[in-house]
Amino acid sequence: MVRDVRTFFSPEGSLARFKNFEYRPQQQQMAEAVAEALLTKNKLIVEGGTGVGKSLAYLVPAILYATEHKKKAIICTHTINLQEQLIQKDLPLLKKILDTDFTYTMLKGRSNYLCTYRLHRALRNAKYLFTDTEQAELERIKEWSEKTKDGTLSDFAVEPDPKVWSEVCSERGLCSPKVCGHKSDFAQDHPLCFFQKARNRIFTADLLVLNHTLFFINLGLVFNKLPDGVLMNNDFVIFDEAHTLENVASKHIGFSLSSGQYRYALNRLYNPRTQKGVFTSLLRPNEIPHIADALEAGEEFFSVLEEACDKACQATPQKLSWSDFRVRRPNLIGNNVASHLARIRDDIAEILKTVDDEESTSDLEYCSKRITEIQSVIGDFLDQSALDHVYWVEKNFVGRNPNPQLSLHAAPMDIAQYLRERLFGANTSVVLTSATLSMSAGTTALTDQAKAPQKGGSSSSKRRLSSNNRLPMGLEYVSNRLGGESSRLLQVGSPFDFERQVQLYLVNKMPDPREDEYQEKLVEYIKFFVKQTHGKAFVLFTNNQLMRKVAEELEPFFEELDLELYVQGMGLPRSAMLDKFRKNTDSVLFGLDSFWQGVDVPGNSLSNVIITRLPFVAPDHPLTEARLELIRLRGGNPFMEYTLPEAVLKFRQGIGRLIRTQSDHGIVVVLDSRILSKFYGSRFLEAMPKCAVEII
Ligand code: SF4
Repeated sequence: MVRDVRTFFSPEGSLARFKNFEYRPQQQQMAEAVAEALLTKNKLIVEGGTGVGKSLAYLVPAILYATEHKKKAIICTHTINLQEQLIQKDLPLLKKILDTDFTYTMLKGRSNYLCTYRLHRALRNAKYLFTDTEQAELERIKEWSEKTKDGTLSDFAVEPDPKVWSEVCSERGLCSPKVCGHKSDFAQDHPLCFFQKARNRIFTADLLVLNHTLFFINLGLVFNKLPDGVLMNNDFVIFDEAHTLENVASKHIGFSLSSGQYRYALNRLYNPRTQKGVFTSLLRPNEIPHIADALEAGEEFFSVLEEACDKACQATPQKLSWSDFRVRRPNLIGNNVASHLARIRDDIAEILKTVDDEESTSDLEYCSKRITEIQSVIGDFLDQSALDHVYWVEKNFVGRNPNPQLSLHAAPMDIAQYLRERLFGANTSVVLTSATLSMSAGTTALTDQAKAPQKGGSSSSKRRLSSNNRLPMGLEYVSNRLGGESSRLLQVGSPFDFERQVQLYLVNKMPDPREDEYQEKLVEYIKFFVKQTHGKAFVLFTNNQLMRKVAEELEPFFEELDLELYVQGMGLPRSAMLDKFRKNTDSVLFGLDSFWQGVDVPGNSLSNVIITRLPFVAPDHPLTEARLELIRLRGGNPFMEYTLPEAVLKFRQGIGRLIRTQSDHGIVVVLDSRILSKFYGSRFLEAMPKCAVEII
């Protein structure tokens, strides 16, 4: 198979018959490495620079291996854009080129699918469950359900009201043979639902494409390690955009509960505002006051929690306000909701004894299950029973509501141990890839940082980074953080000619970003460099307040130059902003975090990337704070071992926005003089591809 893969990507191979083919040795080497990892059930972490053609480099060996060995390839991406590229472009192309016949499908999050059973129920009980406007929306969903191809949200021309959709979409814990299985009454009059069709496709397809979030949600539901797989027996996994894995995994392996979710679970039984709900449809007026009490107790719980966080925040030096507050001790407040929730569960248990229709039974069982989950999340959060977890409260303002929505969160401080066991310890292949996984830029040379691969992964918990201040320049950083120490590490550089395509400007005259004149000089230099390319610029910020101030100050200047300015967070959704920027070559885009990575603007529209500040992560998010503490506790240096490598990775992602094709060219400007004045500046410079540099 390795030979077949090598030939496929060679100048004489099948791919070469297609127009626009360019032989890329990096792509060929990556594909061979993936094929080897699959054949030996090994783990591989491979950085493939921009332009390598990574997706084909892993899809081809994945297809060949899956079909030959009757395995299932699970391909995970972070962004919907890449998923769409795989499903709409790469896989159909490979269907035409490869001699091997294969099938593929995409799995979306469960709540994307219409549940025909819930729709049927909702229509029958509409007058008890919905207001008049909501009933009209329900009718619209019904009409759509008769025409839709895949029964998922993305098939709507105008998305439905989220409140109504949440009552008719597929939900975990509801599907059962009793409810709608082929022997059920419901199944007699209704064809297989969209969700079941999608699931059936998953079981039969050779390749399954899904996102990281869904992968980790499902991994959390697999309780016992599988003999030959990760999510399903006989599977293997390939993660693209793997630079986001640590954060996505942490988020989904922990737990969370918002005040809105608490309310929603109870409102399903009875909503005092609309006077609708399951209890109304079952004509159970005696239990309704219990719901009202539990809702009131919930309001009190979250409000007391907010006060407790405010008080603790005021007692914390240098912390004036909070949006994420770390709760460092158990029982910060009392649990005033437990008894109310227990009473509702008892009520449901009593009602269940008298109800004899299957639909109401399954509804009530589902509600009871959800309330049990909420009870246990609140209990676990207050007890802080998992010692290796970090606990925090998040405060968000939703829409125009002046009252914040609070949510409880818990996540493991160190995700490596979990992934070492559950992912890298699996008896199957795991491949991680991204354009940015290491501290240093790959050159056009091919770099193999291979260690002797260990069959079936390793359960070793040895971390090479914790006892000294050395910053690993290669892929060891990411393999250590993810618990993938047993993996083969490979870096294949980009085929682009950065020396010809990029000019780097380092502005030594800029004051330190912490000094007062920084903003004034920032404005001055943004003007200077934006003028050079007449717009076509991404200006990347790390601070929202500063971005807005600078945007305000520069607005008249851009107007004068007839340049359109798009500023993130000013009303225009991110994708619409990007779309306008791509189409309007005389424009400037000011962006925060999400524009540093995963954004692709090939061609003339983007010829200038301005980095306003080296992207050091703020240490005050509870999860970051806990990660830094953990390193300190191990005797390590948090700055060298986490803050700096993370900043270098993000910096590489930021500058990686500029050159997306062979013919792109442009400038990168760094307006943070610490890149030249501080001891760590060289780490950022080493992260740049080799290109022309001018210091001004
Ligand atoms: S299988 Fe699940 S999603 Fe499909 S109709 Fe039944 S309950 Fe709904």
